[in-house]
Amino acid sequence: MNTILGKFAYAARLVLVSTVAVWPMVGVTGDEGTRLYVLDCGYMDMEDWQGFQTFYGFSESAVAVPAQANPCFLIIHKGRSLLWDAGLADMTPSTPVQTEYGVKFSLKSKLLDQLSALNYPPRKIDYLALSHLHFDHIGNLEYFVNVKTLIQRDEWNAARQAGPNDIGYNKKFHSQLDDFTQLILLDNDLDVFGDGKVRIVRTPGHTPGHQSLLVHLKQYGSIVISGDAIHFLEELSTPAETPTNADSVEHNAALGQLIEMTRDANAELWIQHDPVQNKGRRYAPDFYE
Ligand SMILES: [Zn+2]
Repeated sequence: MNTILGKFAYAARLVLVSTVAVWPMVGVTGDEGTRLYVLDCGYMDMEDWQGFQTFYGFSESAVAVPAQANPCFLIIHKGRSLLWDAGLADMTPSTPVQTEYGVKFSLKSKLLDQLSALNYPPRKIDYLALSHLHFDHIGNLEYFVNVKTLIQRDEWNAARQAGPNDIGYNKKFHSQLDDFTQLILLDNDLDVFGDGKVRIVRTPGHTPGHQSLLVHLKQYGSIVISGDAIHFLEELSTPAETPTNADSVEHNAALGQLIEMTRDANAELWIQHDPVQNKGRRYAPDFYE
């Protein structure tokens, strides 16, 4: 067993333990005032997708549910705010619609409506941070043209250079960033609010400039939000072979780093797309703090 595999085995235990964690008391605001809302930014049913094996590096029979949840996260920290990812486009139908390549997309509730209901419409968002520029994470960029937007420089370059066979990049979506007035290109990790509570961490591999997020909550504890550095819980025990659209060496290194960071911060690893973990998440207007 190599080091990476050893880490996977450790993390699998860690995640299993975390799923039975006691929920914190709701409605008690700590001094630190960091709050995390989970927003529903769509769902992707992948049962009939022919590309599953090549894209993820393992067959769909290896996962309990061949589907992906697609949450976004709103973090409020001492009166300032950060939205993590921008989901499937709000125009996505609420009833699953089959695409020509076999994935069924659906969106129950528009991001704009969810943000407005929390009294955080786009004009009140201080930062938009994007894990990467695949279409399912940037479907609603149009709302955030004047918001400070945090992406890795490598990611911006990769998206702009992507060809038609680079699954996931869609010029229709990422080219909107050309009009952004406050695009901030990162070359490293970033302590977003300067006090260590919300940290963007470079995790390249799935895409060249992929990034993940570490959030420290006073009562609940720390949470690592993976982005697409990992897609399914099962990858912790069965590492993927070379997935399409990923540098496998970087991908494995980033996942190992993510698991190590999770352990060091005594955090929960939230696998952003995982459909099973997702069922246990409390969605807005409920929150974690
Ligand atoms: Zn992706």
